[in-house]
Amino acid sequence: PVRVRFAPSPTGPLHIGGVRTALFNYLFAKKNGGTFYLRIEDTDQNRFVPGAEEYILEALEWLGIAPEETVGKNEKFGPYRQSERKPLYKQYADQLIESGNAYYAFDTAEALDAHRKQHEAEGKTFIYNHHNREKLDTSLVISKEETAKRIANNEDYVIRFKTPQNETLHLQDIIRGEVKFETGLLDDKVLFKSDGMPTYHLANIVDDHLMETSHVIRGEEWLPSMPLHVMLYRAFGWEAPEFAHLPLILKPIGNGKLSKRDGDKMGFPVFPLEWKTAEGVSSGYREKGFFPETVVNFLSLLGWNDGTDKELFSLEELTQAFDLKRVHKAGAKFDPEKNKWFNHQYLMQKEDSVLAEEYSKIIELKHLNRHYSLNEMTKIVSLIKDRADFVSDFWEMSDFFFIAPTAYDEKASKNWKAETPALMQELISVIEEISDFTSLNIETIVKDWMTKNEIGMGKVMQPFRLSLVGALKGPHLFDIVEVIGKQETVSRLQKAIA
Ligand code: GLU
Repeated sequence: PVRVRFAPSPTGPLHIGGVRTALFNYLFAKKNGGTFYLRIEDTDQNRFVPGAEEYILEALEWLGIAPEETVGKNEKFGPYRQSERKPLYKQYADQLIESGNAYYAFDTAEALDAHRKQHEAEGKTFIYNHHNREKLDTSLVISKEETAKRIANNEDYVIRFKTPQNETLHLQDIIRGEVKFETGLLDDKVLFKSDGMPTYHLANIVDDHLMETSHVIRGEEWLPSMPLHVMLYRAFGWEAPEFAHLPLILKPIGNGKLSKRDGDKMGFPVFPLEWKTAEGVSSGYREKGFFPETVVNFLSLLGWNDGTDKELFSLEELTQAFDLKRVHKAGAKFDPEKNKWFNHQYLMQKEDSVLAEEYSKIIELKHLNRHYSLNEMTKIVSLIKDRADFVSDFWEMSDFFFIAPTAYDEKASKNWKAETPALMQELISVIEEISDFTSLNIETIVKDWMTKNEIGMGKVMQPFRLSLVGALKGPHLFDIVEVIGKQETVSRLQKAIA
């Protein structure tokens, strides 16, 4: 059965790239009737950041891609927090020592630095593996007794993987096809430290095995770890999961990986949710007014498409259409402008009344004198939403429904002629007589009056709009008139000619 995981380290807010990894795992699980679980990889205690774990779960829940199993939820293979699995890992490190696949190393940081410097001086790179093993302070060189004695004396040690010499590994990646690695170029990576903690590599492999992970789907930055991971499975005698390394997410302009700095410079979030620290606030997609559907949709297209031009996918559609084999290996450019376009599409799909409720929350905070019912708010939303990307755009586009203009656009005021006040006065009389105060009826009556009196459209309509809105913007004028009502229309006209 398909079992996939998202295995973040809670070292800060979840980057949007991490969310894409989670999404692709979720989609792959759903598509294949499998399980998506969340494992917290918190073995590096120095990098622990409070709140990060909660943030990760909240982000996944907001996006509608919550894991089926995780800390405190269906803990079938628990615990799901690696720090709580600590006692488990040592035996696996020991197992590798016993089978000759790992060894103890006592080199101090200074000694390693000296080795590195000496190699540099000779124009070589220092690789911690069989090329140098005889010069290093390891249990491969010193005797078994000596090793035991130094451990008993509480000397600091690490357990390192004994990388096979000069082997060419031909590995399969679902996205990349065959990838080749020369073991002679790899370091003997640290698996376990004397503080009792495994490193990422050991804990990750042990847990993926024990938690019966069938596929490892993760970012390209982990591709260099793939040979070690496959060799570890081999050393344990376990069947390795299948691997798929997702392409990098590239910055919108220029080359290279998308970074937080790009977002700060160009004014877009790189986090799904806001992240607050004593140093400041990093904005999130949620707080910027993006819908979760939007974020899921634009992330799904970072490195994947369904083979057609289709761009709008609901989560449901994605779970049907997603195919790891259609993920490409080339980096995917992040496009913040396009992301806004996606939000506009989802905004257009929402019920006006749902948007009106959201908008009402913004309006309430403004403590205005004019109040509208939900029905009227819904009407306002229907008049303006086709030019908005976010609910937060609504205010700028519709403030005149709530407050009378206090100033008039200067350029537009050029159409305010000597005869205009008299015309507006007549218009007031016409409007006051209208009993069925609905847009189309108002329009018919006002236009009839203009035709009968041979008054040009421009002479009335522009000053009329200017009086109500303060500028030559906004939706169909008679729709505005209907919404603000007879009394307000008349009062604004009077104010304009006063
Ligand atoms: N803990 C690793 C991370 O932070 C997991 C990488 C993997 O999926 O193997 O992304």
